[in-house]
Amino acid sequence: MPSEPLPSVQEILSARSGEEMALNDRFLNPQMGRILRTLGFDKVWSGGEGAHLIDADGERYLDLFGGYGVFAIGRSHPEAIAAIEQVMAARTGNLPQLGVTLLSGVLAEQLLALAPNSVAAMVPANTGTEAVEAAIKIARAATARPRVLYAEHAFHGLTLGSLSLNGGSEFREGFGPLLPGCDPVAFGDLEALERELAKEDVAAFIVEPIQGKGVNIPAPDYLPAAQRLCREAGALFVCDEVQTGIGRTGRFLALEHWGLEPDMVCVAKALSGGLVPIGAVLVSRAAFDSVFDGMERAVRHGSTFGGNDLAAAAALATLRVLHREDLIARAERMGSLLLDLTSPLIERYEVVRDVRGLGLMWAIEFGPPAGASARRLWETVERRQPGLFSQLVTVPLFHEHKILCQVAGHHMNVIKALPALTIEEAEIRRFAGALEQTIAAAERYPSALARFGLRTGLRAAGARR
Ligand code: PMP
Repeated sequence: MPSEPLPSVQEILSARSGEEMALNDRFLNPQMGRILRTLGFDKVWSGGEGAHLIDADGERYLDLFGGYGVFAIGRSHPEAIAAIEQVMAARTGNLPQLGVTLLSGVLAEQLLALAPNSVAAMVPANTGTEAVEAAIKIARAATARPRVLYAEHAFHGLTLGSLSLNGGSEFREGFGPLLPGCDPVAFGDLEALERELAKEDVAAFIVEPIQGKGVNIPAPDYLPAAQRLCREAGALFVCDEVQTGIGRTGRFLALEHWGLEPDMVCVAKALSGGLVPIGAVLVSRAAFDSVFDGMERAVRHGSTFGGNDLAAAAALATLRVLHREDLIARAERMGSLLLDLTSPLIERYEVVRDVRGLGLMWAIEFGPPAGASARRLWETVERRQPGLFSQLVTVPLFHEHKILCQVAGHHMNVIKALPALTIEEAEIRRFAGALEQTIAAAERYPSALARFGLRTGLRAAGARR
């Protein structure tokens, strides 16, 4: 230990502000540092409030990244902060381990009341990936079957079990061998699913109702039919609502859009207001009881911090805020407005291939323009780094319009938005206007943008090595 006493958090926040990038480069992730500098995203963020991040100069940035979608009730929501302060002040008997606590019990009661009747018990976790790991284990143990099916392009987390259900080679590469018995089926392909299920060895099909990577929305009959096929084959149907849940799509759970009744539902991210880690699997009574089927099996699965008082209190406050501020209906309304404002871009700009969304989970997809020379430029840019065109939009949005948004996955020209459900109508309109200006500029000055793209692409490619 150093001989000097460590300063308090308050002292660190005031005395060492500005050292973030240097500390990151030295001790955390220098490659991330290079990406941030290349794109000019290396800001010092001093605060967050509602739908905005605030930099050290006090400038407010509209945050459409939403911390990967955790800030549904907005950043620094006073009620969620108060809930955490109340738990701390109460000095609760947190984590007795050989004992149970009130707050996680009430959270389970409240969450299950908002979930479909098919689920009846909660298994707490600390993150999304941990919730998915629990679902994999419960499915295998409950069915005594080995295989788990997942959809191509799926994202379920980055620990080894969840990674085995990940549709992206960019995440899997180098980490194998992954979990045996995990096989992909194309998202939307019922025949492929039926073929795999017919082998009678499938424990579960785990699927995001809307895929986060790319914001892929299924055909209306896909999920209900997938659920029916799973039931008929004796496999569990599991919805990963880590990203789509907690009001994001204009329903508490996205599965409500299709009236699904899954055997398990994974939730995490926005459930604790973005303040503390959280995760949970909601499980059918039958699956739960067949896994935890005796006193000696009561602690077969779990995690030290699962169901802790801080996470439970923040989650209960989040549920209260969602209800009191009517944020789910608001997500639906604001999402429709965003779609109304941005869908016309498909007709207006050659590079805009699609605009899609449900509630406040929204995406725009770009593709090569029609004209021969414009297409050549596009291809030159894309050859350097697939998906780079999107960065030609996100970078000016950030620097010229103070809007932070994300590319929806590796090697794809899709930009995605997961704003706070509290976002003001004026900010939705500002984003739509800024987006159109940026795309128009990209079409008007393709060669300048291509030059910029090449520079950025080469540097970013270097950054990846
Ligand atoms: N499932 C889905 C659908 C997700 O979007 C994510 C995170 N992006 C996860 C699981 C993993 O969650 P976490 O990062 O909390 O482990």
